[in-house]
Amino acid sequence: MANDINTPLSQVDPEIFSILQREFKRQNEKIMMSASENYISRAQLEAQGSVLTNKYAEGYSGKRYYGGCEFIDEAESLAVKRACELYGADHANVQPHCGSAANMAAYYAVMKPGDTFMAMSLDQGGHLTHGHKVNFSGSLYNAVHYGVDRETEVIDMDEVERLAEESRPRLILTGATVYPRLWDWERFRAIADKVGAILMCDMAHIAGLIAAGVHPSPIPYCDIVTATTHKTLRGPRGGIILCREYLAKDIDRAVFPGLQGGPLEHIIAAKAVCFREAMEDKYKEYQKQVVKNAKALAAALEKGGVRLVSGGTDNHLMLCDVTPLGITGKQAQEILNDINIVVNKNQIPFDKEKPFISSGVRIGTPCVTTRGMKEKEMKVLGEVISSALKQYTVVDLMNICRSKVDALAGEFPVYTE
Ligand SMILES: *Cc1c(COP(=O)(O)O)cnc(C)c1O
Repeated sequence: MANDINTPLSQVDPEIFSILQREFKRQNEKIMMSASENYISRAQLEAQGSVLTNKYAEGYSGKRYYGGCEFIDEAESLAVKRACELYGADHANVQPHCGSAANMAAYYAVMKPGDTFMAMSLDQGGHLTHGHKVNFSGSLYNAVHYGVDRETEVIDMDEVERLAEESRPRLILTGATVYPRLWDWERFRAIADKVGAILMCDMAHIAGLIAAGVHPSPIPYCDIVTATTHKTLRGPRGGIILCREYLAKDIDRAVFPGLQGGPLEHIIAAKAVCFREAMEDKYKEYQKQVVKNAKALAAALEKGGVRLVSGGTDNHLMLCDVTPLGITGKQAQEILNDINIVVNKNQIPFDKEKPFISSGVRIGTPCVTTRGMKEKEMKVLGEVISSALKQYTVVDLMNICRSKVDALAGEFPVYTE
């Protein structure tokens, strides 16, 4: 019988093949401005789509529960070594399947069910895994939430200190999903020390900026740092945990055998490639441009009458409050999708709308910067976005906006083949 293991996808499954082709086209033709997405290199796509997926490798390099791991061990050791080097960390675990799993493992390593931890609330910028009631983190642990100041829309550090003293948490978590400003890790460290808490950072969104040194690093201040590898870091979809030496064994045990089974070694190989790319000068240039582009886009949006939460951005993202324009976040997302710009609706601090409707949209520059766009294009995008949001009922104007977006997408292709 013919061995059809070598038959190409287009023949084995034309339906899925066609979906891949259409998604490829969509990624090239639409302008993705979600703050949490990016395009990875062909080199990483190759590593991910490799035979490493066939290998079971429960355990860690040199201590596996399967035979035949000699090459897998080399790949995972490289990923670990490079992650430590890139961030100046004592220890790295590169096995978490995603950012949520990394957080779960970190909590599992240092907390018992019922323990108290502090984090930013979801409706002010935190993540579901930061203690939301619908998530394991909010049902297994007692989450105490801090947020931003109503006036400045920046984290209220005095409130953080007051809450920490009041609740004596086992762990204080920093980091967020929608926060455009810098973190005062020095102050957080002082507060954690004062109440005897472990300090952790979930740097999921800003991991790439930190790797390139264009954003302050939490590593010198935190005991544990988790991240997704697929956002600004521009790696494969997955997670990592970095920690101080004294927690290394607990973290490793929490990931395996605590929570996960066999690691995704094809993804781990792609993580290693990502970390290697991140050490190059052109990566640092890229991340610098991500931040410059965010500033340029923020300025153009403000000029166009869009209110930015906290008045701007220090990183790769901004949160636009669309209530002054008389629309909701959900409408804004739909209006922009209509002119081929993909963003996501998002609640603003103290939002009056439910999450599914929201009063804002979150916009980020990692994707457009990977495409090669610079400040000049950000100015165009800022103008297009603000005019569409203000005059979405004017068909001619929407057509002009769409053709400007399409021209930019054509001028800055993502993948060439
Ligand atoms: C995206 C994100 C996560 C979760 O990552 P997944 O890979 O989607 O599980 C966790 N924390 C923060 C702050 C994030 O932004």
